[in-house]
Amino acid sequence: MNEQLKKDQGNQGDLLQTAVHAATEFLTTLPERKAAVFPKIGSNHPELPETGLGAAAALHQFRERFEAGLSGSAGPRYLGFVTGGTTPAALLGDWLAATYDQNPMADEDSIAPHVEQEAIHWLRQLFGLPDEFAGTFVGGATLSNFVGLAQAREWIGQQQGVNVAEDGLWAVRPFPILAATPHSSSKKALAMLGLGRQAITPVPTLPNREAMDITALAEILATLDQPAVVIASGGTVNTVDFDDLQAIAELKQKHNFWLHLDAAFGGFAACSPQFAHLLAGQAAADSITIDAHKWLNVPYDSAMTFSRHPELQLAVFQNAAVYLGDMGEHPSLVHWTPQNSRRFRALPAWMTLLAYGRSGYCDIVERNCAQARWLGEQISQSDQFELLAPVRLNCVCFTVANTNSLSEIQAFLAKLRDDGRTYLTQTVYQGQPAIRAAFSNWQTEQYDVEICWQALVEIGD
Ligand SMILES: *Cc1c(COP(=O)(O)O)cnc(C)c1O
Repeated sequence: MNEQLKKDQGNQGDLLQTAVHAATEFLTTLPERKAAVFPKIGSNHPELPETGLGAAAALHQFRERFEAGLSGSAGPRYLGFVTGGTTPAALLGDWLAATYDQNPMADEDSIAPHVEQEAIHWLRQLFGLPDEFAGTFVGGATLSNFVGLAQAREWIGQQQGVNVAEDGLWAVRPFPILAATPHSSSKKALAMLGLGRQAITPVPTLPNREAMDITALAEILATLDQPAVVIASGGTVNTVDFDDLQAIAELKQKHNFWLHLDAAFGGFAACSPQFAHLLAGQAAADSITIDAHKWLNVPYDSAMTFSRHPELQLAVFQNAAVYLGDMGEHPSLVHWTPQNSRRFRALPAWMTLLAYGRSGYCDIVERNCAQARWLGEQISQSDQFELLAPVRLNCVCFTVANTNSLSEIQAFLAKLRDDGRTYLTQTVYQGQPAIRAAFSNWQTEQYDVEICWQALVEIGD
């Protein structure tokens, strides 16, 4: 055995303590850390060492060279994109997932796939989804959209008498894909699926909304002479607008379409009796995307994909091979997603669900939404900023008053980032350059939001 490997092998306990020390330092200083750091990097990388330094020196060098450049995105005042943190229990689960290093793709050598199914069972209960939904962990909501839309493509093929998974797209006639305000990742998924980003037929939205105009959707569906795919939003990223899933469910009684629901973070509305109504009708979906590394507050990369049509999911993602054995009645996880081998990413989710339960997630969701509402109120009462949409859930969509210039917004956001108290990201909402503040971190408290607001007021002055 290589000398450094040998040394580290004999010293694993001490090495882990070094990591515990580094992690504790990071976590205790996280609230004071700059929310985001613009990386100042040169293009020079040192040469790969011929003789390694050993784990302790490698960690030391990482911390020396890079630690200051890490963002505080796991902390309480990072409001960019929709970025969750990591609960203490999820962190333990993630550390141990790496330690155990299981590969839950097969069922016969480890209990890990069973733990994954238990986590999925709890998640269905958390989200109020019927047991008929098969659930699988994937690396993020983009992949989950890919898995859902791959099944939609397979289903369309079936309707047209084509087996897409076996014979490809060659014989499939173009089919309508309808959506009002799809997330960019659904377009990416369509690109990956060979259908193309441009394949979406836009459905008009309600006035001053990002939600579908259901009457318009009904009219489009009525003109179709073939099965279609509808991509619904369960929370848009700008204003967290929800398509009326109940109404879409009713249309499904009359028209033949696949309903894919992207509820990457909006799915968590189901955790709170205050907001669960936003998802009424969700059970009519054929496939559903919900992210875990956002509001579940587990580390990246983690999301769930739910499906009412496991046979279609298996048709696309099966990986039959002699050495993997028969698929059998309960196909193992190797047959369900784009990945074959995968990490034990269910463990952090399992841990955090058991540690904090339904009420823990209700608290995180309601607290974050109250914070978003509070910030929205400050903005609507101020002359400096202008609220662009009502705060429906956990995001605030606003802009700097009296400007319509994206570069001014960008300059403001760069100043805010360099100040470090908070980090917000840009968008364009109804043609207007705008700013989003998204709350999805378990650590955020009211005083954090007050600090963020203070920073906005001072930097905007
Ligand atoms: C974040 C998000 C995605 C993409 O999620 P990743 O986890 O970054 O892949 C998809 N849809 C919606 C609505 C999102 O908010």
